[in-house]
Amino acid sequence: MARLKEKNPAEPEFHQAVQEVLESLTLVMERHPEYRKAKILERMVEPERLIMFRVPWEDDKGEIHVNRGFRIEMNSAIGPYKGGLRFHPSVNLGILKFLAFEQVFKNALTTLPMGGGKGGSDFDPKGKSDNEVMRFCQSFMSELFRHIGAYTDVPAGDIGVGGREIGYLFGQYKKLRNEFTGVLTGKGLNWGGSLIRPQATGYGAVYFAEEMLKTRKEGLEGMICLISGSGNVAQYTAEKLINMGARPVTMSDSTGYIYDEEGFTDQKLTFIMDLKNIRRGRIAEYAEKFKNAVYTPHDPGLDHNPLWSHKAQCAFPSATQNEINGKDAANLLRNGTYVVSEGANMPTTIEGVNQFLEAKILYGPGKAANAGGVATSGLEMAQNSMRISWTRNEVDDRLRKIMREIHRACKQTAERYGTPENYVNGANIAGFLKVANSMMDQGVV
Ligand code: NAP
Repeated sequence: MARLKEKNPAEPEFHQAVQEVLESLTLVMERHPEYRKAKILERMVEPERLIMFRVPWEDDKGEIHVNRGFRIEMNSAIGPYKGGLRFHPSVNLGILKFLAFEQVFKNALTTLPMGGGKGGSDFDPKGKSDNEVMRFCQSFMSELFRHIGAYTDVPAGDIGVGGREIGYLFGQYKKLRNEFTGVLTGKGLNWGGSLIRPQATGYGAVYFAEEMLKTRKEGLEGMICLISGSGNVAQYTAEKLINMGARPVTMSDSTGYIYDEEGFTDQKLTFIMDLKNIRRGRIAEYAEKFKNAVYTPHDPGLDHNPLWSHKAQCAFPSATQNEINGKDAANLLRNGTYVVSEGANMPTTIEGVNQFLEAKILYGPGKAANAGGVATSGLEMAQNSMRISWTRNEVDDRLRKIMREIHRACKQTAERYGTPENYVNGANIAGFLKVANSMMDQGVV
């Protein structure tokens, strides 16, 4: 860790992600000195390739802007690089390296042949017109196209990159390359996309919670659930929870959160989806429309997020990294939460994670719990290669089976390494072993 910090200064999120994995791997290194000798860890924390580029674009008034574009190609031991693109003003090298590093382990858990990568830009799509977003995406792809391909690197969406952005990116790639291939996932249904891909991360996080609960012979029906975020992952987490008879009561965006004690219904969720995906408005509007709901604006002066202080059995953090700190974790535990299934990547700080582990609650870390999204991207790639489309049920069945398999792998690996019920160790070790063994087979490259 000391060497890593020295070599990669000012990248706290990357340090945090690596530290969590290294703590789990102590157990493995004791049993397998061959990994140490082959410097597997030193190789894994160094991206295979890192691309950084200028993205100039013109707004509707003719003013020129310059953003920074990135693609981190982290590890290709088990398949082409695969991972989303994030467009958000907070994006920097350290954040994308943490995401790319996590992606390597997550993709290994999916049972599908995908390496790990991540990319994006500090561009903020909020408040931009469709034309501005299109021009930005075209400029971004005008550089990225040289580095990606269906057998090399297959990006997808993440924060700020949804169906609209993937469309513009794909259009520009096709124009520059003059080929129609499965180079991106999350595509529209008419042009190579997969049914269930938009739903997959949220549905998967709920399936993972269901699997964890099954180990205690319980189910989600009647459970009160806290959700953060109101984007892609949050929306489909809510949809699946409603569908399973649970009661999701919160959602948020960067300006605040809503609490609806009666719980969301399909009709209320339709309003949220229209608000967020079409009108691109703020979550506060929900409380204007549904009078029983309470809106609480975000208060940057607080040392905790009041969303996590409501009474609930389950929590589905689905917004961004480090959104549950030590105080929030303590509040959740105090109010009876005993299931946490992470739709977002690394939403809990190390202090929060340690509290969940000590309390021995059912804690599904993002690497495992939100792997349904990339798994279904893998299914989209498979359909593109075969030039066929599976039905909704077929994709959903496969997603469900994959989530069950990820849960089984995490649980069994945690037991094998002497830490039963510790899904953090289970996910880190199971993902690591697959990638490390593949790297050993392929020599020093
Ligand atoms: P999204 O559709 O862009 O939605 C993100 C949501 O989180 C929005 O409500 C956004 O609010 C909120 N948010 C983002 N940054 C925030 C910040 N710094 N502070 C407070 N709120 C913030 O993105 P998404 O695809 O749902 O992704 C959400 C999380 O899931 C991310 O951690 C992502 O890496 C992870 N994830 C996504 C997928 C996928 O398939 N999409 C797969 C695996 C993991 P504003 O609109 O106000 O910014």
